[in-house]
Amino acid sequence: MAKYIFVTGGVVSSIGKGITVASIGTILKSRQITVSVQKLDPYLNVDPGTMSPYQHGEVFVTQDGAETDLDLGNYERFIDVNLTAESNVTSGQIYSAVIAKERRGDFLGGTIQVVPHVTTEIKERFKKLAQRSQAEVVIIEVGGTVGDIEGQPFLEAIRQMRNDVGRDNVLYVHVTLLPYLTSTQELKTKPTQHSVNELRRIGIQPDIIICRSDYPISEGIRDKISLFCDVDRQAVIPLPTVSTIYEVPLLLEEEGLGQLVVDKLSLKAQPTDLSQWQELVTCLKAPRELVNIALVGKYVELKDAYFSVREALYHAALYHNRDINLTWVASEAVERDGSDALLRSAQGIIVPGGFGIRGIEGMIKTASYARNNEIPYLGLCLGMHVMVIEFARYALGSTEPNSTEFDASTPYPVIDLLPEQKNIENKGGTMRLGNYPCQLVPGSHAASAYGQSLVYERHRHRFEFNNEFRPRLGEAGMVYSGLSPDGKLVEVCELANHPWMVSCQFHPEFGSRPGHPHPLFRDFIGIAKDILREGAQPPLPLSPSL
Ligand code: GLN
Repeated sequence: MAKYIFVTGGVVSSIGKGITVASIGTILKSRQITVSVQKLDPYLNVDPGTMSPYQHGEVFVTQDGAETDLDLGNYERFIDVNLTAESNVTSGQIYSAVIAKERRGDFLGGTIQVVPHVTTEIKERFKKLAQRSQAEVVIIEVGGTVGDIEGQPFLEAIRQMRNDVGRDNVLYVHVTLLPYLTSTQELKTKPTQHSVNELRRIGIQPDIIICRSDYPISEGIRDKISLFCDVDRQAVIPLPTVSTIYEVPLLLEEEGLGQLVVDKLSLKAQPTDLSQWQELVTCLKAPRELVNIALVGKYVELKDAYFSVREALYHAALYHNRDINLTWVASEAVERDGSDALLRSAQGIIVPGGFGIRGIEGMIKTASYARNNEIPYLGLCLGMHVMVIEFARYALGSTEPNSTEFDASTPYPVIDLLPEQKNIENKGGTMRLGNYPCQLVPGSHAASAYGQSLVYERHRHRFEFNNEFRPRLGEAGMVYSGLSPDGKLVEVCELANHPWMVSCQFHPEFGSRPGHPHPLFRDFIGIAKDILREGAQPPLPLSPSL
């Protein structure tokens, strides 16, 4: 039977609870313990797919096509697993399921209540994942912070689990923030005490408290938290802010977290082997030459909107022993100030996914700049649409080619709705989602990057390349280097007379892992690193004869 680790958060959100959960998974996996992970999101949306990136950050797409919380991306990257829809549960899903059962008559005669109906439905999701994954340990993160109104049913459900599956099979971890007061130059524990009190009020006594802080945590502070929160001294684990998220498993392990979990849950474990992580972190922290990459998008004020893209760039750079100097460029600023002003020093340009017309012309200008100046370009989904529109405007000698997403009456609809999307009315969960096969064309940049002919990649879109324009754009130099196996959908396209301008209809960023960069990102950085731009200095040869 699976054992459960429930992770809650206190004081404030955005303190790295997801990374902590991913790191606990990494530590357990390094001891040969099998793990699965689940994120509980208390909001009433069924999934984050209908939310603006400004509300939620990136929507992470699983192989089976679920639109999920970005924390799942961190779980996948850290634990190196491919998760499924079952790993993200929202209040919206829970309430929809309970109400559907009520309408069906499953509870005839009963009054439907949060306890037990909603909490039972939540617990079913825990058990379903445990059963399906056959993992020895299921780690479950409760989104939000303790005390949030909408999080209460989840907390009640995790409380009940202690009785349901037995005390020895459940562990509660609380991740909290110790704020620093500049005036007195000290870290404060009171907010942690309050949030632990809030947990206790609903019947949960944390077994482990992980203390996030921007400053070193003294022994005195640990003693105080141990005393006031009634947690073993060694179970108060400091987690200071670090320069790379990939260091977190090492820090937690150093503080004895792995052994603590193994002991508390009586797990059978091998000795820890985090040598690969150690190596990864050593490389990440070593000074490396920079590659200037410009990310031109619509939601650049919120970096979390492109979480996986940024990580994939870092993974790729590390492969080439380089670091990324990432410039976030608002596509509207390109419209206003011109591409040269903003992209002059970029050795590579990436245009990621997005929805809606705002900033589109700036992205098109960006693609034009990359094409004319032979700057490596990687387009992801919307970034591919933009590249196709720009190339069509050039090849057809008209300013009118467009996607019907932005101009429904364009005479050149080079990007158009997928046929199966034409009659869809509901917006939630109805895009072309998840893994689809893509056949690569030998001799192309894409085929050479992947080194194989058939690949599966994750999708999230409604619009696609309009085949009507394949011959004309093909004659002008566009290469259709990846197609669906029936040849009907353009999955990857690139330009023949350009060093590396490659775009894909899918989202390769979701498949990149530290240590295994995605092939398209790897080759994009591989070529970008050797491009010389304004202000860049070629490295001086250090020969002994000098
Ligand atoms: N808006 C485009 C579409 O729906 C692109 C989507 C994306 O970039 N994920 O097809």
